[in-house]
Amino acid sequence: MTFSKGTNASNATLTKLRTPDSYCPFSGMCTTCLDGCPGFCEIGKSAVRGKEVLYPQPFGKTTSASQKDYPVDYSHFNIMGTAVGAHGIEPNPDKAIFPAVNLDSYLGVNKDLKLTTPIIVAAMGSTNVAADNWDHLAAGCAISGAGIAIGENVCAMDPNVEIKNGRVVHSPNLARRIKDFQEWSQGAGFIAVQANVEDTKLGVQEYAWKSLA
Ligand code: SF4
Repeated sequence: MTFSKGTNASNATLTKLRTPDSYCPFSGMCTTCLDGCPGFCEIGKSAVRGKEVLYPQPFGKTTSASQKDYPVDYSHFNIMGTAVGAHGIEPNPDKAIFPAVNLDSYLGVNKDLKLTTPIIVAAMGSTNVAADNWDHLAAGCAISGAGIAIGENVCAMDPNVEIKNGRVVHSPNLARRIKDFQEWSQGAGFIAVQANVEDTKLGVQEYAWKSLA
């Protein structure tokens, strides 16, 4: 049994089956794979124009969702709140009100990293879609006291990066990302810098910490 989508084609890769009404559920290929088919499906397209199916298309303009039909999701759960008593606040209907909800939470070994909204926006790296949507996400996290992470390769993909002796000394794109958060910061929340192997070799985190924090 598979939870993957049925066909070997997807709008994500701009591919189609030649016979979409007749396909093998195991491979997702047409029931009759045709000699001479121009290769509409993912197998056919990747055989001749492989790099076009590496990323969801159009690359840089989309975000992605899985097409897998997961057997369980959050809609299968009911959250059954208690109807009697109160937790964390006096059981008084005039005091147990929405504005009195305290969402403060603390992270870190010493619990000294305060979030006033317990949400972290996952790392968004060097892609265009990340760059194009960064400023409002960073500002929103800063204003609401949430966390946000800068993803991988921002410095390595920065056309104006300056590297000396194999280490980053200047990256306008990374600086802008951090500034977008700092300008709106209310004192809670955080901005983090994720690093992969290349970032680590380039000293991205040291540069961010020493020059941009
Ligand atoms: S290459 Fe084969 S499986 Fe793919 S679309 Fe063509 S006929 Fe169908």
